[in-house]
Amino acid sequence: MSQDLVYLDYAATTPIDLRVVEAMQECLTGDGAFANPASIHIAGRRAAAIVDSAREQLAELLDARPERLIWTSGATESDNLAIRGAATARAHRGKHLITMPTEHKAVADTFRALAREGFEVTWLSPDDNGLLSTELLADAIRDETQLVSVMHVNNETGVIQDICAIGELCRSRGVLFHTDAAQSVGKLEVDLRNLPVDLLSLTAHKFYGPQGIGALYIADRPQCSVLPIMFGGAQEKRLRPGTLPVHLIVGAGVAASLAGDEREVDLAHVAALRDRLWAGIAAIPGLTRNGREADCYPGILNVSVAGVEGESLLLGMEPVCVASGSACNSTSGEPSYVLRSLGRSDADAQSAVRFSFGKLTTEDDIDTAIERYRRSVEHCRSMSPVT
Ligand SMILES: *Cc1c(COP(=O)(O)O)cnc(C)c1O
Repeated sequence: MSQDLVYLDYAATTPIDLRVVEAMQECLTGDGAFANPASIHIAGRRAAAIVDSAREQLAELLDARPERLIWTSGATESDNLAIRGAATARAHRGKHLITMPTEHKAVADTFRALAREGFEVTWLSPDDNGLLSTELLADAIRDETQLVSVMHVNNETGVIQDICAIGELCRSRGVLFHTDAAQSVGKLEVDLRNLPVDLLSLTAHKFYGPQGIGALYIADRPQCSVLPIMFGGAQEKRLRPGTLPVHLIVGAGVAASLAGDEREVDLAHVAALRDRLWAGIAAIPGLTRNGREADCYPGILNVSVAGVEGESLLLGMEPVCVASGSACNSTSGEPSYVLRSLGRSDADAQSAVRFSFGKLTTEDDIDTAIERYRRSVEHCRSMSPVT
């Protein structure tokens, strides 16, 4: 990590593990597995074998069968493929779909696009803690409903949905269930042998792998057919044509394998850091925590503070790198809908700061963040004519 930075934005992307970099480097050069895995010559077959073993590593992390995983460019593409692919494959049976307004844009905007194309989308709001009530979902499912999409861990607040209960309900009603697990895979247990999930999206750069590589898991059930959204070749069962990026896939495989070995230790580490951070800032007047501790993945802490604007807060915290509310909303200037749904006012949502950390974060980093955050809040308040 850059010596001059305190990087606390792991929910946006994580630094690549050096062991992952090493494995990727070996692939890139002439004496490595640089060939096109679709080529039938020896070099191609070697590359294909390496792609297969990376798929096995990812499958092991998820307790899934390797042939149920499709490589994509990341969770955005996996979300698009899962949702559009399943909705169109099942459109002859019905065109009603269900999701939540608190989803990542890769999910929400795919549903919005489908709504413009003649599908009907029901948006279920979470309760005051950010959770989806299964009663509400049960009432929303109709005969024409084909797909429900609810994320596992929310990228802004860390709120964990009960995807097991949601998936069971969907199965009992004959509806497909997709979950965006970009924030949970490699960090929390995601065991697809036991979870009733039909489609699951993930991306390697949220668990110390490279950017630009992800996967879509498709359960081995006859109902679970997905139509492609891109066309061009026979790769990935024709669901995702295009030359496979071997070095990225190798990186994703090694990252998955390391996550499987180190997940428990990393989880305890981030939980201790989260507690330290909260202990250091909780006494600031006007501070609220966004998301109940018991409901949240401990690598994310999202807080609002009265009378201060998030972006000024962020600038005053440099060189500590955190996100204001959500990285994805930070250019639009609109208060985060995710925080609004937790009952926060526009002003509170606008003041939100998301701290997110991981295995390279130290106690010193947290202490620096505490000090900079406190100072920045005081500074912003002293500048503000309102207070
Ligand atoms: C990061 C993230 C994505 C997008 O992943 P990409 O790798 O950028 O495509 C989607 N959903 C959630 C919840 C995320 O956190």
